[in-house]
Amino acid sequence: MHKPGFEREERIQFEGDDYAFDTLAVRAGQRRTDEGEHSDPIYLTSSYVFSSTREAAARFGGEEEGNIYSRFTNPTVQAFERRIAALEGAERAVATSSGMAAIMAVGIALIQNGDHVVCSRSVFGSTVSLFNKYLTRAGIETTFVDPTDPDAWRAAIRPNTRMFFMETPSNPLAELTDIEAVSKIAREQDALLVVDNCFCTPVLQQPLKQGADIVIHSATKYLDGQGRCVGGVVLGSDKLMEEIFGYVRTCGACLSPFNAWNFMTGLETLSLRMKAHSEAAMALALWLEQQDGIEKVHYAGLKSHPQHELAVKQQSAFGGVLSFEVRGGKEAAFNFIDATEMFSITGNLGDVKTTITHPGTTTHGRMSVEERAEAGIKDNLIRVSVGLEDLEDIKADMLRGLAAI
Ligand SMILES: *Cc1c(COP(=O)(O)O)cnc(C)c1O
Repeated sequence: MHKPGFEREERIQFEGDDYAFDTLAVRAGQRRTDEGEHSDPIYLTSSYVFSSTREAAARFGGEEEGNIYSRFTNPTVQAFERRIAALEGAERAVATSSGMAAIMAVGIALIQNGDHVVCSRSVFGSTVSLFNKYLTRAGIETTFVDPTDPDAWRAAIRPNTRMFFMETPSNPLAELTDIEAVSKIAREQDALLVVDNCFCTPVLQQPLKQGADIVIHSATKYLDGQGRCVGGVVLGSDKLMEEIFGYVRTCGACLSPFNAWNFMTGLETLSLRMKAHSEAAMALALWLEQQDGIEKVHYAGLKSHPQHELAVKQQSAFGGVLSFEVRGGKEAAFNFIDATEMFSITGNLGDVKTTITHPGTTTHGRMSVEERAEAGIKDNLIRVSVGLEDLEDIKADMLRGLAAI
């Protein structure tokens, strides 16, 4: 049978070291079918048929490779996994139903009852709850540390420490953790280093190349890029990912093929988007620093950021999220946000549309006043995820906010 375009795809897998990042983002992962489709199809099917009882038995018995059921394997989900693995430089990726499901997979499949985790205290709010509330029920204890100080990570080690977990840069204050330095500490302890690479994406930072064992993503953010679907992914060595795959297959936190298709096409423009988001955020941060009524801007691209040099070393640009403190308190921050007209007031980020939120009463609202104070989340803090609208329109909305404080 003639297979248009198929033999070529078989020869060129776009997965090796032969192609550059931007090429892999567009080409890696696709396996063309006999139909010769140019764009990737969506395999919207829950199960697969067998040509005979013998084949079914061989597939279920693991003697023959092939699809059985979409909780285990789905060609669209696998295409997304191959593409993001190529971008992060991972041997393998396992997609999950959300970013939280990716973190849960790491916490359940790779460590166990009696183990101890050292985690940055500046991680996503639900990550804190996951470690503090649910993984403690599985007998896993977590110590939260200052992410910016490698010595704090070392000091928190116990004999049973098996995992380090970080998110860099952090949300909303853009605190950085030195991946390479902490990876050395983790290695001495024979503990796994997990990096939540949501804010940088592989375009700006590739933690596996800097010593991390595992990368996780909330694909919901920049990988999608247009705020459409919820999903996640875990990346690392074949050996570790076999454990993650087993967990997802058994416990059911699998990704929908429709969402995988959106993420897969999202990856095709990720590089362009991340560069544009970073450029706009950098320009905006510099401009905000000059404005009356702004007390402080948190953005690692600024020379005033205490870890600017580390950001230059471990990232290729500074990303699209920044936060700033306005003169006044909560009232002033609320007035600022409500006076903008174009920005979307929403907790989501990583979208082509600029989003604005008051962390103290939304994303970090469940923390106590003391916890927020310790984490540096002040009442006058506003977080913005800079979108791809015209920069002058973004500044004009900021001016509306400033006029209202
Ligand atoms: C959103 C987010 C998550 C959780 O991802 P979901 O897809 O919402 O489950 C984890 N980490 C970071 C840094 C996030 O921003």
